[in-house]
Amino acid sequence: MSRRDSVPCAAFLAVCLVFIACLSRRYTTPAASPPAAPAAGGEAAAPPFDIWLDNPEDFYATLGGEPRPGDPLTLIFLPGGGEAERYRALKADLLDAKGRRLGGAYFFDWTLDEEGHTLKACVLAVPSTYDGGEALVKIEGAPGVLAEFGLKLKERSFLSEEIPLGPANTALRTVPDPKKTEESERLRAIITRAGDTVYTTGPFTPPVAADTRRTGYFGDRRVYLYTSGRSDPAVHAGIDYGVPVGTPVMACGAGRVALARSRIVTGNSIVIEHLPGLYSIYYHLDKIFVEEGVMVNEGDAIGLSGATGLATGPHLHWELRVAAENTDPDALCARAILDRDAAKRLVNERGEQVYAELSW
Ligand SMILES: [Zn+2]
Repeated sequence: MSRRDSVPCAAFLAVCLVFIACLSRRYTTPAASPPAAPAAGGEAAAPPFDIWLDNPEDFYATLGGEPRPGDPLTLIFLPGGGEAERYRALKADLLDAKGRRLGGAYFFDWTLDEEGHTLKACVLAVPSTYDGGEALVKIEGAPGVLAEFGLKLKERSFLSEEIPLGPANTALRTVPDPKKTEESERLRAIITRAGDTVYTTGPFTPPVAADTRRTGYFGDRRVYLYTSGRSDPAVHAGIDYGVPVGTPVMACGAGRVALARSRIVTGNSIVIEHLPGLYSIYYHLDKIFVEEGVMVNEGDAIGLSGATGLATGPHLHWELRVAAENTDPDALCARAILDRDAAKRLVNERGEQVYAELSW
């Protein structure tokens, strides 16, 4: 039997009902949620998938609970059969409470095990600058919108700070330079590209000892004070670690080096691609040990920290981008963005109710 035989208006009604149900409650774990996996090695168990959409044709779930501004969000999708055309160019958009687009990404194939069980997954992030309280996820395939659901966002506050810059750093930020523009465009082209390879599923490991003193935090609301008396607001995209020049910097996860070169504002810089649309970034290095295009493993020394580019002192700036959005590194270290066990558990315990023929 094909689920595609379903009456279209029934499918539409089901999606609407789910949507209304989602918006009308907070996203606490439903009673029917699969139990969390036993904690391994004393670590906290990964939270369960806690939103699912069962409609007559497809099956979706998200991992991310009640995200905060700056948090990552994982969507998984189990194709319901039928024509592959339906799922070509499957994408998810994140919209604000007024329907304006905050971000989006395409789904990619995610193979869960040696037997080749494959889901479609999509990784997104809530912008750290969005504090609208609610957001909407819209999933589209070739025939149009396949599903929509609301997200209730947790409140979150960020630190504010003023950073006085001397003449050299003021010039780095304020003097127009075609080379700076070219470097920005090159970086933008890298972090907006979504490949198709899952090099790692996370969780990630900080590039220096996790207890290293921090001199800047994710999402800091900064005001740069220039020597001219003018100022500029900025949001800090990553974590600054106060490490002395020459401290080894490790790859936070396996991946492919997408950029390794000197840049005017960020100094010696490295970008590593970890999975489709997810990149880690390391700035102000004294030395770079890797070349563009090479593969690295988690924990490999990729360079030495320094104070190159716009830096008021020696430090390592570490940043993670998900679908081009600055994303909280601590959230991506706390749990896998692609959690194989949680995905398999979900499919086993919920998917078989949707697909009678499914047995993993
Ligand atoms: Zn920084």
